[in-house]
Amino acid sequence: MKPQTKPNEREPVNPTNDDQSQHDLKGMSRQELSELVVRFDQKPFLAGYLFSFIHAKTVAEIDQITPLPKPFRQQLIDGGYSISRLTLVETFTDPDGTVKYLFELPDRNRIESVALSDREGRRTLCLSTQAGCRMACSFCATGKLKFERNLTAGEIVDQFYQAERLGGQIGNAVYMGMGEPFDNYEPVLRSIRLLNDPDGRNLGQRHITVSTCGIPEGIDRFAGEDLQVRLAISLHAPSDAIRRRIMAVGKSWTLEEILGAVGEYQKRTGRRVTFEYCLIQGLNDSDDCAGKLIGRITGIDAAVNLIEYNPHPGCDFVPSGTQRIERFQGLLAKAGIETVIRYKRGQTIRAACGQLGADRLGKNK
Ligand code: SF4
Repeated sequence: MKPQTKPNEREPVNPTNDDQSQHDLKGMSRQELSELVVRFDQKPFLAGYLFSFIHAKTVAEIDQITPLPKPFRQQLIDGGYSISRLTLVETFTDPDGTVKYLFELPDRNRIESVALSDREGRRTLCLSTQAGCRMACSFCATGKLKFERNLTAGEIVDQFYQAERLGGQIGNAVYMGMGEPFDNYEPVLRSIRLLNDPDGRNLGQRHITVSTCGIPEGIDRFAGEDLQVRLAISLHAPSDAIRRRIMAVGKSWTLEEILGAVGEYQKRTGRRVTFEYCLIQGLNDSDDCAGKLIGRITGIDAAVNLIEYNPHPGCDFVPSGTQRIERFQGLLAKAGIETVIRYKRGQTIRAACGQLGADRLGKNK
């Protein structure tokens, strides 16, 4: 079997940040909280208070979980347990209403999350799953940053809690920020279950989308989870030759392997998928490319998001013009493929798709 991760061989400094996560109550499942409570010779039902105060009331301190006996709270604190919280460094707001949050992790690494609002004011949060990314897609600013480490489940859900605290209710979570979710599989799955828990934030599974750059083993594994979460696949090319030019992951897995995994996923789950396709002038936006893409995905129950390429420093690609994007869309529509065009959002604050981390390029921080 090919490695689950990899295009970029750089090793993480601290791949999981285990020391911190083992004592972070925010990243613990209900089962783990129950076991912890029992280990401290407390009544098992107290685990319910721990969970709901952390994930529904989103308290920041153990001492704020007042239904717990005071001595037990102190025992937890003395035992090194805490409720992790990201530090907000800066909030950026685009005139189109997009908001980017820059957070600092306890080890000083920085990540970004983006809240997008639709016309009705409903907010969707784009979550990061890693500090940096190993996948090194050439059109993406995050892929040019040094990979630092995986985020813990607590750090992933806290982006959501903080964005709600800072800007109001969030209706959807999309795992499309910094990092490849299937390269940090366990914490990502754990974070989904935490967000979805009825005694916590209770975010509906159909309001959650996980986006992968196309790791077949991850897609297979995801198909076996008992979840109704949506799956998106970043395709971005109709042929392996073009894909390899823009996505290092294209050297590890062919389109046939990826689409084969998607087919199996659909057989097992019966769920529709979304393909992401970023249009870059002269590279993947010709009529011929549209024809090849149609040939590749016909027969798969899928919608295609056509994304306008978002420029950033250090990358010479040029976005396809509106006419070309609409022409491409027309060809797909004619073939019966549902498409949505995603025009630039959050451009002035570098919050658009593929721009996360762009502020740090060349600054070495
Ligand atoms: S597009 Fe996604 S997978 Fe590719 S480098 Fe950027 S964050 Fe990583």
